[in-house]
Amino acid sequence: MSFKNKKVGIVGTGLVGSSTAFSLITQGVCDNILMIDINEEKAKGEVMDLQHCIEYLNKNTKIEVGSYDMCSDVDVVVITAGAPPKKGQTRLDTLELSAKIVESIVNPIMKSGFKGHFVVASNPADIIAYYVYRLSGLDKSHVIGTGTSVDSARLKNFIGDLFNVDPRSVQAYSMGEHGDSQMVPWSHVYIGGKPFLKVVEDNKQRFGDIDLDKLVLDTAKAGWEVYNRKGTTYYGIATAIVAIIKAILNDENKIMPVSAFLDGEYNQKDIYAGVPAVLNKSGIKEIVEIDMTDREYDKFTDSCDVIREYISKLK
Ligand code: NAD
Repeated sequence: MSFKNKKVGIVGTGLVGSSTAFSLITQGVCDNILMIDINEEKAKGEVMDLQHCIEYLNKNTKIEVGSYDMCSDVDVVVITAGAPPKKGQTRLDTLELSAKIVESIVNPIMKSGFKGHFVVASNPADIIAYYVYRLSGLDKSHVIGTGTSVDSARLKNFIGDLFNVDPRSVQAYSMGEHGDSQMVPWSHVYIGGKPFLKVVEDNKQRFGDIDLDKLVLDTAKAGWEVYNRKGTTYYGIATAIVAIIKAILNDENKIMPVSAFLDGEYNQKDIYAGVPAVLNKSGIKEIVEIDMTDREYDKFTDSCDVIREYISKLK
């Protein structure tokens, strides 16, 4: 597949969806954007506001209010429709409502003849990505959950701050559930190519008191730290969504942590979970299987068990 006129559909034009559209147009990632929402007036308002940016941008992206039957030639549909967790709820508590919402979205999109890729951000992200995969009947490579992409960015920020380096010089993945049970394979974290654990060992005086378990907890809780202050999160996830879209539309072969269907990888089957994967025009081209220590592997397995428990509630 090659993308001549790159077209993205965004279903759910709330904070995550509209931030995604804004990031797409400011980065000039695609040619057309369809903004779709059950609240058409909201979609229209976002379209108008976004159109008013074009004069001052490098590219004239065509943005319009869309509908499901307009999705037949869309390359990537982003699903950000949903109900963000209310105070006291976890992401997993929003499953029932989110599942109903995606049913009402995926079925009509598939009826349009859609053959592109779904990028799923609605929470609980791994379970909803799995559900979109099942509902759509598309190949597993065509349904990508945002998974731990934003958690990994948060983790790199924490490590960058601790070591006073640019977070982009850190290679690190948070894996498993986009939620409380996520884990970090520390044996695969690198700072400028040097293993993280070796950097700590070689600099005991400076970094000897780093608490790895607390870092994982801080990463998993970082979204809530934002939520507690501003009521929700959207810039981080929107930027991660756009990175996934760019990897697909530009055939980048970029390796990113996303929620992918596991079919034997990491000894897991019939589940979506956050893992590093190679992304290109075919969607998830390949899952990167890193060698974890036994302890890391057990933690990843435990996190997959949490996802699996909630997937079973879908059936
Ligand atoms: P929001 O309330 O600002 O926007 C949601 C939008 O979805 C609204 O415009 C609403 O009208 C629309 N919508 C609801 N039901 C619909 C339906 N049946 N069909 C079409 N549109 C529908 O919420 P938000 O802050 O943008 O969050 C959206 C989703 O993204 C939530 O599930 C939230 O938990 C999730 N989220 C995920 C991450 C992540 O890291 N994966 C981060 C933040 C938010």
